[in-house]
Amino acid sequence: MSSELTSGQVVAGRFRIESVIGEGGMGMVYLARHLTLRRQVAIKVLKGDYDSDEAFVERFRREAVAASQVAHPNVVAIMDFGQLEDGALYIVMEYLEGVGLDQVLDASGAQPLSRVLSIMIQLADAMDTSAAAGVVHRDLKPENVMLCDVRGRRDVVKLVDFGIAKLLSPEHRGKRSTLSGQIFGTPEYISPEGAMDLEVDGRSDIYSLGVLAFELATGDVPFVGEGSEVLRMQVQKPPPTPSSRMPRRLIPPAFDGIVLRCLAKRPEERYQTAAAFCRDLLKLRGQLAGMAVNLLGPAGEKGAQPRRVRTSGAWGTISPDREPVFTIAGELFSEEPRLEPQGVGGDAQGDQALSLAVCARELREQLHGARKEIAFSA
Ligand code: ADP
Ligand code: MG
Repeated sequence: MSSELTSGQVVAGRFRIESVIGEGGMGMVYLARHLTLRRQVAIKVLKGDYDSDEAFVERFRREAVAASQVAHPNVVAIMDFGQLEDGALYIVMEYLEGVGLDQVLDASGAQPLSRVLSIMIQLADAMDTSAAAGVVHRDLKPENVMLCDVRGRRDVVKLVDFGIAKLLSPEHRGKRSTLSGQIFGTPEYISPEGAMDLEVDGRSDIYSLGVLAFELATGDVPFVGEGSEVLRMQVQKPPPTPSSRMPRRLIPPAFDGIVLRCLAKRPEERYQTAAAFCRDLLKLRGQLAGMAVNLLGPAGEKGAQPRRVRTSGAWGTISPDREPVFTIAGELFSEEPRLEPQGVGGDAQGDQALSLAVCARELREQLHGARKEIAFSA
């Protein structure tokens, strides 16, 4: 049964419903306010009749408790959950003001690489923390990623629906299900083992993250087609490289490599942890940021003409007949610079300098973040 909540109604004795936020496949989402704390929250009321399905309610309880254990700035905070008088299950979450990644992709397609990396790094970090808490998401897709503005910071990722979406998939619901087939994750993001209905673990989430990274960089998923055809491709077809989908745009081979590693058919050939995936993304971002500095000259002067630079071999030479729009580390260049690799494969000193630069940059970022936290607390 699905209960419709009305404005003014009080749920669980402490949340007053204010309005409907939206309706998803799983149920209605309401904006509500905590009666005493005055804080706004979002309440999702799940569809379906579970009153009599004790095993389901128990699984829901376990998933909600597990999801609430994941304390991470990029994972929506779960504050409470329970059952309404008519048996409908609800979850109380942090209220997010933002936009779904699906809407971003619909509106503007492929995103600049700097934005792709920023979003993916936050997601990988969130998945690393959740894996440490023993939680697998199982339904990573753009609809379950929101981009919010938090304290003036743009593009703060918030991951929603941990473990909950999959809970409502036909395989997890009893035979009494009235919603079969309606919820199960979209084939475009499912791992090969998920598509084959085998056991899934954190490495399935890594596969889905690879699909997301691919889609953010190219505007489309690796495998496009009708549902069952896509499932077959997930299992059998070698994935394309992101750069092959974007011949007129600059996508570095290192990015291709990271995405393809996520998209390996066999879980043991993927990144084994989200932390390892995150490290490679950070390294690539560091490399690109270093190049942007080079391109702008030592003083980082804005508007300076891009000039020839020597790089530590991250990218090859770019042919000049490509589209004359070029972004690195958020900077937009109207002319595509020619980049020449230097010491590919054998430049140990260069590599060392590069990794030191990446470390220094990460430390600076952490320091900056810590300073902001202190300033905010003060
Ligand atoms: P489902 O997962 O059941 O398909 P969604 O998660 O997509 O449902 O939620 C439906 C709508 O509610 C979406 O428009 C989404 O943006 C919004 N929404 C979901 N969770 C929150 C939240 N914590 N804060 C604000 N809006 C939310
Ligand atoms: Mg959702």
